[in-house]
Formats: sequence, structure tokens, C-alpha cells
Amino acid sequence: MQIDWQRTINDILAKKLSCPRCGTLADDIFVGYLRTPEAAEWAPFCEGCTKRENCDTRKLVVLCESCAAEVRLRGRRVDEEGYMLALLEECCRNLDEALDYLADYWREDLDIDPQDIDKRLEEVDPDLFEEEDSWRRYLEEQYLKIHQWFRERRRPIPNPGWRSEYVEDIIALGYLTLLGD
Ligand SMILES: [Zn+2]
Ligand SMILES: [Zn+2]
Repeated sequence: MQIDWQRTINDILAKKLSCPRCGTLADDIFVGYLRTPEAAEWAPFCEGCTKRENCDTRKLVVLCESCAAEVRLRGRRVDEEGYMLALLEECCRNLDEALDYLADYWREDLDIDPQDIDKRLEEVDPDLFEEEDSWRRYLEEQYLKIHQWFRERRRPIPNPGWRSEYVEDIIALGYLTLLGD
């Protein structure tokens, strides 16, 4: 089954969410986390994920009640706002991870020579940098969409300070962000 997740995120914004696994229009949706690669098809953010075919990271998954039971998703039942909150939380978590990776973790990941310790990721591995950069841009675009959802309903976005901290950190690293300047 091919899922257009971009459309699915837009569908929840239009209050029409169908289960990505069985296609049922669901009133009750369950969110939880799975690591299995097959779950990438039901994970909203894996649309922009570079490891889509083989994504074994812990990822937020959204399913109807019976699919959640079938795949043993230890999820919780959420309403629309609960879903948006879960998306927001997952989005910020992924952006924090992308930031940590750019700042430092890539050095361990690539096992670089000590003499290259002052180099930046884009100098050492431009292709990997490009991959990381487009993933981060995708996440920032999703953040803005979710933020817009809260704005349109005049609901306060939880943890608003997260955004300015993220912006300061990413700019201090010398990179651009869609979330501010
Ligand atoms: Zn289902
Ligand atoms: Zn993924």
C-alpha cells in the first residue's frame, strides 16, 4: 500500500483521517511508537525520511484501533488535538536530534580522523550533509504547518520557548532555519 503522507497530514487538518494501514475512516486514532521498518508506512514523518525503505528508528505511528491491536502498537487513544500535540512533540524531538547530529554526533557516526575534528559535516561528507539538511528542512516545514493549526484555533502552542532555543542553537552552528532568524 502506497500512502501519500503529505496528504494525510493535510487530511487531519481537514478533519478526515483514514487509517494508513487499512484505509478505514477513523474516529478514534491511536498514536504510539514502533521501530520496525514496515511501520515507516504508517509514520507521518517518514514521508521526509531518507531511510524510508529501511527505517529502524523509533517513530511515531498513527493507526486505527484494530490495526493498532494487530501490530501490537502500545498506543494511546487521541482526539484531533491530541494527535496534533503528538505530531508537534515528535517534530521537535526529531529537530533536536537533527541539531545534535549536526553539532557533534556525526563525528562519532563517521568515525573521522582526529585531524579532521575541526571540520564541518559539509566539508567531510557533502552528500550526507545534503541528506541531513533536506530532512531538517522537511521537519521545519511540518513544524510550521502544525504551528499554523494551533494558531488558526487560537490555542496556545505548548512549550513555545522550544522554538527560539532551537533557532539560536542552529544559527550558532552557522546554519539557516525556516523557524526564525
Ligand atoms: Zn486500520
Ligand atoms: Zn523514517
